[in-house]
Amino acid sequence: MENYLYYSDPFFAYNNALYIEKTINGKPVNIKLSNFLARITEDITCTNGAENERFLSIVGTDDKGKDLRKITVPLKNFAQLDWAQEHWGKGLNRGGKQMPADPYRWSKTTVRKILTQQEYCGDVINFKTYSKSFKNKKRILNPEENWKVFKGVHEPIIDRDTFETVQKMKAKAKRRAPNPKHAEKNMFCGLLYCADCGSPLWFNVNHPNTDIKYFMCSNYKGRRGTCEGTHYVRADSLEQIVMLELRSLASFLIEDEEAFADILEAKTNKSILSQQKFLESSIDKATARTKEVAVMYEKLFEKHINGIVNEESFMQLSQKYETERDELKLKIRQCQEELSEIENLRTRKEQFTFAVRKFMQMETLTPALLNELIEKIEVHSIEGKGKNKTQKIIIHYRFVGVIDNPIKEENIVLEARQGVAVEYLTA
Ligand SMILES: [Zn+2]
Repeated sequence: MENYLYYSDPFFAYNNALYIEKTINGKPVNIKLSNFLARITEDITCTNGAENERFLSIVGTDDKGKDLRKITVPLKNFAQLDWAQEHWGKGLNRGGKQMPADPYRWSKTTVRKILTQQEYCGDVINFKTYSKSFKNKKRILNPEENWKVFKGVHEPIIDRDTFETVQKMKAKAKRRAPNPKHAEKNMFCGLLYCADCGSPLWFNVNHPNTDIKYFMCSNYKGRRGTCEGTHYVRADSLEQIVMLELRSLASFLIEDEEAFADILEAKTNKSILSQQKFLESSIDKATARTKEVAVMYEKLFEKHINGIVNEESFMQLSQKYETERDELKLKIRQCQEELSEIENLRTRKEQFTFAVRKFMQMETLTPALLNELIEKIEVHSIEGKGKNKTQKIIIHYRFVGVIDNPIKEENIVLEARQGVAVEYLTA
């Protein structure tokens, strides 16, 4: 009876090769580890009279079914498995990178590397890299003048003329610096959201007409997203709309400061009041419970002292009370923090009015001012066709949300291209 190497789960032998079963992305995958199988045929003990040494005789079969000659390996070297490589030229797959799904989908870097391999012309190039010491595995690139080039050593795959032409073309094709226009940001970046899917809108520059700058849903179906519409809005249109909206808000503030204040008050108060009440009652409840827990703890302690409650129960209950006390403490602190936030809202309202006034004076939009005034802008899809196109653009102001401006005039109509106009509905 021959003695096979023992393979325990997840290793197994198949067609004279060793495999491992792994789970990759939830699916079982068999990975080939070796291109041979070995079996022990003999266990030999040699002695020189004083010491014993054990050897194993091993035979094998490679994955093509070829028998591998019998070898004898010291037992102490057996586990390293390097004897397979040494005697049979067979080995274990040490892992490493797996083949990509499509090995010919080369990246720019790969193509560039292929095009510049002088070896393909039949040359041998030595000393491309060196290392500081034989102990140091790190390779350092050697400058080209230190290379040793032996021309025409082997048969070329690319003729020298073609290779040199490519090198010249490569040298001419300067790497284009990123177009600063692409890097440009727009002050509305980060403020716009898709009304349908909630994704942010991304800033885009039209090519080749770089004057056209626009935003569109980052989750648009046509760009591998799931959103049905582009939610396209031109940056210049948007700027005009927001300018007009802010102007009309500012004139409302000038015309009727009291009404403006009332609207802000109503906006903030409605939600604030209920929130404030809720927080206050939460604090009251938590405080009352804290007192109850303290009393219960005290009583428990007394009972323990008097021997009514044993050590184990005392430990358990006291632990429970302490945990609850800590939780209540935390809750009270959180509620108090939220309450003081709400009180800050009063100042925030003043800040908002102040920012509107600042806009009135400046009459221009800056990113800073925009962020002071506007929380987010909700962009809807364009509705209708031809002359009747409309698009809803809803501005959510900071602290106060959507403002229904009573003095707002007509909707804004902007001509995007000749003959194409869009009416913008802003509330
Ligand atoms: Zn969307």
